[in-house]
Amino acid sequence: MQTITVLGSGVLGSQIAFQSAYQGKDVVVRDLDDATLATLPQRWAYLAEQYRRDLPDATDALLDAAVARIRATRDLADAVGDADLVIEAVPEVLDIKRQTWAAVGEAAPERTIFATNSSTLLPSAIADATGRPERFLALHFANNIWVQNTAEVMGHPGTDPACFDEVATFAEEIGMVVIRVLKEQPGYVLNSLLVPFLTAASQLYVRGVADVETIDLTWRKATGAPLGPFQIYDIIGMQTPYNLMRTSPDADLRQFAEVLKRDYIDAGKLGRATGQGFYDYR
Ligand code: NAD
Repeated sequence: MQTITVLGSGVLGSQIAFQSAYQGKDVVVRDLDDATLATLPQRWAYLAEQYRRDLPDATDALLDAAVARIRATRDLADAVGDADLVIEAVPEVLDIKRQTWAAVGEAAPERTIFATNSSTLLPSAIADATGRPERFLALHFANNIWVQNTAEVMGHPGTDPACFDEVATFAEEIGMVVIRVLKEQPGYVLNSLLVPFLTAASQLYVRGVADVETIDLTWRKATGAPLGPFQIYDIIGMQTPYNLMRTSPDADLRQFAEVLKRDYIDAGKLGRATGQGFYDYR
C-alpha cells in the first residue's frame, strides 16, 4: 500500500498522515474545514518539532521529505480517487462516520481498503454504510503515534482476512507495533484493560480508601509497573476522563468527575501537558 488517504486532519488524523508520510507513503489529507486545512503547515511544523525531540534519527531532511509527500484537499473524490487505503479519523459521531463512509464507498476505486480509527464505535456498526463491508475494518492508533506506536487492527465478522493482513502489514511498514484483535471488542485490547483499571483507582480515591500517592505507590511497588493510575491520568489529561465520567451511572465516578473539574480543569492543571496534574512536573 503506497497511496494513503486520511479523512479528517484533527488531532489523530494529522498524526496518522504525518507518520505515514515520514515512513515513505504518499498521503492525501481531506478535511471539510477550511480553517483546519489552512493551518496544516503549522501542524506539520509542530509535529516535526516533536519528532526531532523524541526520535534521535529524525533529521531535517527526513522531516522535510515527509511534508513534501503530503497533499491536502477538501474534495472527497479527489482525495480518494487513487487510494490504496483510506483511513478515517473524523469526529466520533456514528452518523458522521456512516455518512462519510457512504460517500467514500461511491468515490473510491474497487481495490481500496477502508479503515476507521474510531475509539468507541465498533466496525460492525459502520460496515454496511461503506458498500463494501468485506474490505472494511478498524485500525486504531494511540495519541502521540510516533512514540505511543501501537496500532490495533480489528475487523468485524464480515471482514476479509486478506484485507486484515494487508492493513496489519501497512501498520508495520509505518513503524507501528501491531496488535491483532481477533474478535470484535469494544475498547479493543488497550482500553478493555485500561478503563476498568483507572475506574477502580478513581473509586478508591473518592471513597477515601487511600490517597493518590498511596494508590500509585501500591501499584508500582507490588507489580513492578513504572506508573500508577494517577500518573497515567496525568498523561491522558483530565478532559477526556471528565467527559466520559460526568454522566456515568456510577455515583462515585460522577463525584470523581466533579473533583477533576473543580480541582484540576478549572485550575488549569490538565496533566503533564500543562506541567501540573495530580503531580507537579515543573
Ligand atoms: P478532531 O476533532 O481533532 O478531528 C476531527 C477532524 O475531522 C476535524 O478537523 C474536522 O474538521 C474533520 N471532519 C469532520 N467531518 C469530516 C468529514 N466528513 N470528512 C473529513 N473531515 C471531517 O478528532 P480526533 O481527536 O482526531 O478524533 C478523530 C477520530 O480518531 C475519532 O474517531 C476518535 O475516536 C479517534 N481517536 C482519537 C484519539 C485522540 O486521542 N484524540 C485517539 C485514538 C483514536
